[in-house]
Order: sequence, then C-alpha cells, then structure tokens
Amino acid sequence: KANPFAPLLQLLAPLVDGFDVASAGELALVPGDKGRVGFAGPGKRDRELAAAIAAGATISLESPGEAGRALAIAQGTARPLHALLRVNPPFELRGSGMRMGGGARAFGVDLEQAPDVLAMLAAGGAHVRGFHIFAGSQNLDAEAIADAQAATVTLAAELAAHLPGPPELVNLGGGFGLPYFAGDRPLDLARIGARLSETLARRHPVLRDTRFALELGRFLVGEAGVYLMRVVDRKVSGGQTFLVTDGGLHHQLAATGNFGTVVRRSYPIANASRSGPAVLACNIVGCLCTPLDRFGEGVELPDTREGDLLAVFLAGAYGRTASPEAFLGHPPAAELLVGA
Ligand SMILES: *Cc1c(COP(=O)(O)O)cnc(C)c1O
Repeated sequence: KANPFAPLLQLLAPLVDGFDVASAGELALVPGDKGRVGFAGPGKRDRELAAAIAAGATISLESPGEAGRALAIAQGTARPLHALLRVNPPFELRGSGMRMGGGARAFGVDLEQAPDVLAMLAAGGAHVRGFHIFAGSQNLDAEAIADAQAATVTLAAELAAHLPGPPELVNLGGGFGLPYFAGDRPLDLARIGARLSETLARRHPVLRDTRFALELGRFLVGEAGVYLMRVVDRKVSGGQTFLVTDGGLHHQLAATGNFGTVVRRSYPIANASRSGPAVLACNIVGCLCTPLDRFGEGVELPDTREGDLLAVFLAGAYGRTASPEAFLGHPPAAELLVGA
C-alpha cells in the first residue's frame, strides 16, 4: 500500500519477514512466497478472497460477513483458510495522523462480536492463526506507540480464550511515523524496542510461543524516496515569488498536503541543481490548474531559476499509487530504484 514499485519489492524481499497487501492486485505483485503475505482491508471481493486462499496468504478478516464469505470459498475450493481476526481495538493510538482503531470503524470486528465470529470460523474449519490489531498510523510519539502495543498484547491474551489453542501470530499493527515537517522529531526506535521487550517479557503465558509482527508500510520506504521536479516558471504575484514546477499532486498527493493531513505543511524541499545560502523565500507549486497543487509556502531556497531541479524528500511512501495520476493528462512520474 505504501509503495508497490516492483524493483523495490524485489530489493526488500530478502530483508523482510513478509509483505502486507491491501488488494488482490497487490498480492499479485509480491515476489516469491505468497505464504508470508498478510492481506488486510475492508471490502475484499470474493475473487480477491479466492486469490488469497489459493496463494496461501493470511487474510485479516474484517467483518462477520467477510469471515462467512471466506469460509464458504475455502470450503468450496477445499483449500485451508489461513486467517487473522482483525479486531477493532477499544483504544486508539494517541496523536496518530490517521486513526484506524477505536469507536465506530470500517476496519476489523468490534470486540463484542469477536467471540461469535471466532466460533463460526472454528466450526467452519478455518485455521485462525491469531489476531490483527492496528490502532493508528504516522505517529512520532514512542510512548504512545509503546502504550498501544502493550494494550494490544493484553487484548490478544484475552481474545486467545476464544481460540482452540494459543495464537500463532499477533500482528501489533504499525503506526511508526516519519518526521515530515519542520519541528518533527524522528521516532525514538530504541525506546519503542525497550518498551516492547518489557511488554513481551510480561506477556500472558498463553502468548508464550506466539510470534509478533509489526507492519511498517511508510516507515520502511518513505525516507528512501526523493521526488524530483523541474522549475518551469518563476514569477511574482502579490509581492511573493512563485516557482512553478512540472511536478504536482498527480504524482505526490501526500506531499501537497492533500492525503490525510489536517494542517497543510511542507515536506522538506531543496534545490538539487545548486547550493548556496537560502536567499529566496518562495511558494512552490505544481503544474495542475488547481490551487490545491502546492508543495510549500515561504520555502527558503538558494536563488532558484527556471530549469533547476527541486527535490522533495520523504517521498517514498504513498506517492505515485496514492495520487490521481490521470488528472489533467500530464505524463506519469518516472520511477527509478538507485543505489541498491
Ligand atoms: C495502511 C496500513 C498500514 C501501513 O500504515 P503506514 O502508515 O504506512 O505505516 C499497516 N497496516 C494496515 C492494516 C494498514 O491499513
């Protein structure tokens, strides 16, 4: 979901324990063993459930209805249904960019419904591997993430009473954020690691042999991406300098503040063609005919000219595939894997 660029998936394949996908289309892109794929997301069509079951992927079941459809497909094809029950947690990850747990949600099964769904899955012969609990995303607060992980481990131990045996796998979600904006501090990974070790050291005995997974979409790929755009025009309006580029929200919706942000702030941007003191305060916009298409206001750069390349950093997650590429008929951004 964060970045399905095929050469990147090839590079990551030997480095990660598995891949998370959010559609059958993404499942088809995963290189190698599909048995280490987790498939989450609402609205999985029967065709997608069938593809995941045939591939031996683990499906995060998001509702009683979806669980019933997956069971029927598995029974009809005589293939095992490997599943996690995705549970909508009764807590949320404090300060997340996008909340995906707590309260009424499209994701997962509410806690009160979990026992019935688990009973139905057991009766239908499903292989329920454990639980998936995803409480939020884009968080820079190590304590908040650690608290959510601790609450998740506690909840998984309670839910384990409704499984025929101890859970094999508990997916703790992700939420690891990136410091996109001025004043953001990078996440304290050592602190999360230390607290997670404490949490796991004290876990309920029913989870003794359980494997725990983290899903780190954005965190693994975001900082690796640089988006380059060329300055087409430099103009002055209302006393302000505008740099108009050949880039835009059709390539990088998130970097223009139009994907899951409340307050519009700039990603880090630099002039990739020339260095020098920051003497120019400017507004950087894309080439689309909409006021939404802007990358930054009052950005300080060296004396930037037409033809210069501007680099937008932290552009590796939710870029091309999270952007309305067809809007206005401009060419797509070229994607390159470099330095691997
Ligand atoms: C989107 C999503 C992720 C990844 O979130 P990031 O913000 O990219 O880290 C992980 N798990 C699930 C279930 C998701 O829907």
